[in-house]
Amino acid sequence: MSSKDTPQNAHKVGFISLGCPKALVDSEQIITKLRAEGYEISPSYEGSDIVVVNTCGFIDDAVEESLEAIGEALNENGKVIVTGCLGARGDIISNNYPQVLAVTGPHAANEVLEAVHAHLPPEHSPYTSLIPPAGIKLTPEHYAYLKISEGCNHRCTFCIIPSLRGDLVSRPIGEVMTEAENLANAEVKELLVISQDTSAYGVDVKYKTDFWNGRPLKTRFEDLAVHLGELGIWIRMHYVYPYPHVDKVIPLMAEEKILPYLDIPFQHASPNILRAMKRPASSENVLTRIKKWREICPDITLRSTFIVGFPGETEDDFQQLLDFLVEADLDRVGCFTYSPVEGATANQIAEQIPEDVKQDRLQRFMQLQAEISSAKLNKKIGHTMQVMVDDIDEEGIIARSKADAPEVDGLVFVDSESQYKAGTLIDVKITNSSEHDLFAVEV
Ligand code: SF4
Repeated sequence: MSSKDTPQNAHKVGFISLGCPKALVDSEQIITKLRAEGYEISPSYEGSDIVVVNTCGFIDDAVEESLEAIGEALNENGKVIVTGCLGARGDIISNNYPQVLAVTGPHAANEVLEAVHAHLPPEHSPYTSLIPPAGIKLTPEHYAYLKISEGCNHRCTFCIIPSLRGDLVSRPIGEVMTEAENLANAEVKELLVISQDTSAYGVDVKYKTDFWNGRPLKTRFEDLAVHLGELGIWIRMHYVYPYPHVDKVIPLMAEEKILPYLDIPFQHASPNILRAMKRPASSENVLTRIKKWREICPDITLRSTFIVGFPGETEDDFQQLLDFLVEADLDRVGCFTYSPVEGATANQIAEQIPEDVKQDRLQRFMQLQAEISSAKLNKKIGHTMQVMVDDIDEEGIIARSKADAPEVDGLVFVDSESQYKAGTLIDVKITNSSEHDLFAVEV
């Protein structure tokens, strides 16, 4: 960092970011605002005048991790501000750590800034405000998360996000597109569109018209997909519900305007459990839709997540889930055992499943999916495909195909001594595969 960017006497803020990509975007916004006001972000506790901890409160393990991080920051530094999902969960923080200076909920950049101002007033310097229009990013430079809305209108019984983050609030499409365009101009090569419910984008504002570069656009999922597709970079859609209007973006995938990739959290397949979870989709309808999507876009990659051991899940319910898995033939799948998050209504609806049964079902589920995934990846051997370089190490290039989102999906290991910048697209031929990854040579 040059002395021009950061004056010698700048106040220094330590920042700890925990949790999901949505929390990461909150962190990026807070850091961007802090930098715009002349604060320096310090990588160490001892070099910081104050520390901000962005917490996660989704499951008990995350609560534990967040509390530990707050305790460590208090021990090592002493001046701590807490934000994020755990901050929205009542008195947990003040009961554990009354010495914390301020607590806010998630998506509260301005409140965090006010708390920082109260304990560490900003320096006024002519050298600050040199913030790139794309903001400060915490992800590697070649990809970025694009958060399009906050909150959620669903009330899935296992989830406390609506009570933490409130109902759906969509960002105006003009603002989202400007941010996306700035990121593309800043050499970002892939945007990962995130929210709690991406396909509901714009419902809360009745698809209100907004403006981007003077063009009127509707704040609506399909329109966002079309216009993001004009940026000429990889666009990946996450957290999409299988609503009927999602069908409208499949042709865009077939035309390669956006990546042929949908991340749809199905969560289960048994009608009884889906009802108990208060999820809207039925598994039969979903299978018909998937079939139709594959007819329109044969290369589509489908990623999903599931919960096993939901309260009241019988062996028959679980078997229906396994049957669905075989039938749906999904490409990428994550699975969790049900975790009774404090405050989730599902905790009261039926008997909890014993831990050993949950673990047994998780293993059977993952074993089956590993076989499906291996078989699907095996069919790619001999094919040529475009991949994006993520990194280079002594063994070659570490890349991702269009079917792989960063962090959660597989990788393509390319046997090559070529040197490329992260984000470069190269063509490779697949030579081998494993359960989750591919191996390739450059062509
Ligand atoms: S869709 Fe369901 S699981 Fe997702 S955030 Fe909304 S309530 Fe939670």
